[in-house]
Amino acid sequence: MPVTVLQNFIGGEFVNSNNTEQYIDSYNPATGKVHAKVPDSNEVDVNKAVEAAQAAFKTWSKLPSSHRSNFLYRIADVLESRLKEFAEAEVRDQGKTIKFATNIDISRSVYNFRYFAGHVLHMEEKAGQLDGVALNYVQRCPIGVAGLISPWNLPLYLLTWKIAPCIASGNTCVCKPSEFTSLTAYMLCSVLKEAKLPDGVVNMVFGSGPSTGEALVTHPNVPLISFTGGTVTGKHIMESSAKQLKKLSLELGGKNANIIFDDCNFEQAVETSIRAAFSNQGEICLCGSRIFVQETIYQKFLDTFIPKARDLVVGDPNDPKTFVGALNNKQHMEKVLMYIDLARQEGGVIECGGSRKILQGELSEGYFVEPTVITGVSLTSRVAREEIFGPVVTVHPFTDEQQAIDYANDSLYGLSCSVWTENGRRARRVAESIDAGTVWVNCWLVRDLRMPFGGMKGSGLGREGADYSMDFFTESKTICLANM
Ligand code: NAD
Repeated sequence: MPVTVLQNFIGGEFVNSNNTEQYIDSYNPATGKVHAKVPDSNEVDVNKAVEAAQAAFKTWSKLPSSHRSNFLYRIADVLESRLKEFAEAEVRDQGKTIKFATNIDISRSVYNFRYFAGHVLHMEEKAGQLDGVALNYVQRCPIGVAGLISPWNLPLYLLTWKIAPCIASGNTCVCKPSEFTSLTAYMLCSVLKEAKLPDGVVNMVFGSGPSTGEALVTHPNVPLISFTGGTVTGKHIMESSAKQLKKLSLELGGKNANIIFDDCNFEQAVETSIRAAFSNQGEICLCGSRIFVQETIYQKFLDTFIPKARDLVVGDPNDPKTFVGALNNKQHMEKVLMYIDLARQEGGVIECGGSRKILQGELSEGYFVEPTVITGVSLTSRVAREEIFGPVVTVHPFTDEQQAIDYANDSLYGLSCSVWTENGRRARRVAESIDAGTVWVNCWLVRDLRMPFGGMKGSGLGREGADYSMDFFTESKTICLANM
């Protein structure tokens, strides 16, 4: 497969970056070989993209929402017609399995456009009379050019989750995907062209955080930034954008608790805990990486969970039987292995896994790590507290309900939590006591897109989903009409 050299997409055209000296090598995580070259765009590129988006805003923001909706439906249709090609590219770029890319990433990217195409037609606009004196109503105004910055774990899925509500509500945007996984965002530009989206509504600038991302975040004509990524980066973006009082949405890291009571449906709890721990190589912000098990079933849980983790197929991401593909990049793999070493130093027992997995043939340089289960580390250890974002979980016993709640809440993060119990009252009590944006009872990763999604504490600011995204991407203006 030849190396793909990416170009920026500005004003409906593919253009070279101003910084032609500098390309970032993008590796296929399964082979460790360069498969794409990503420009490291600079301020000049970002300025051009913002200008194109500003120009497009003038007409796009005035289109009736039903017209904008039609464009989104068309984008969804074109993307869906190329689902296989996109799924294969996402595997090559990200390291995830073909099954996950097909069923989750790309299918959901299609749905993101379709969902917001429908939702924008029902965007609520309140109206009311004040004592017969004046008619009040709320106008939902698009804001302008949005900066959309996304991470490498669910590349197209998370980017389209921002693009769809952003343009549906009348804004235009400049997107900056992760420099590690820019390929499907680049391919999306050809979908936008085929769907005849007006030029400049969506612009794409590729590059690293410090050069491209920073230029976008600090650009004076970008009044809102929607960011998904790490907590440290999120805090930095908040600081840089504060000077211009930008509207900010931050979807950040997680260290999610998975609480298993002894009155649960045991089989279901174990099966789902395996998925929650190791799906997408543990590279989902919602992965249940801190497993708390009631002491009465602690040993039984370990005896069932560990062999299942050990048996997961790690290997060729293109093989439909593979469950655990390659970690996204070499530095990240090294970070994950460093945490496993740290667990050993912190007194942990590596119950299974614990190493890089070396495969044969062209996968011999791939970034594969065995599913790893750790017990015996204290709740204050770094492994139990910091986000590892790989196929690594720690398991801890607890005695009673209150202790489970305390353990789960003893975290700097607050993104999600799962609770396993057949006792309805307990389910409700625990769910309502957990500091997290989403609490799943007897399930994991089930999403109703009408519900708010986001994190508490170090996991972020703001919510995404249906009206919540629309609130972010619009300003509400009250208009008061008297004597009319
Ligand atoms: P990251 O913070 O390193 O990078 C995310 C994006 O920000 C990339 O596009 C990067 O280039 C850009 N960036 C980096 N520095 C920047 C700067 N100074 N200014 C502007 N942009 C900058 O995160 P990552 O390693 O790509 O992704 C993993 C993290 O994302 C994990 O912490 C994970 O939990 C989190 N995440 C959160 C959610 C959620 O919905 N809460 C979803 C997925 C991933």
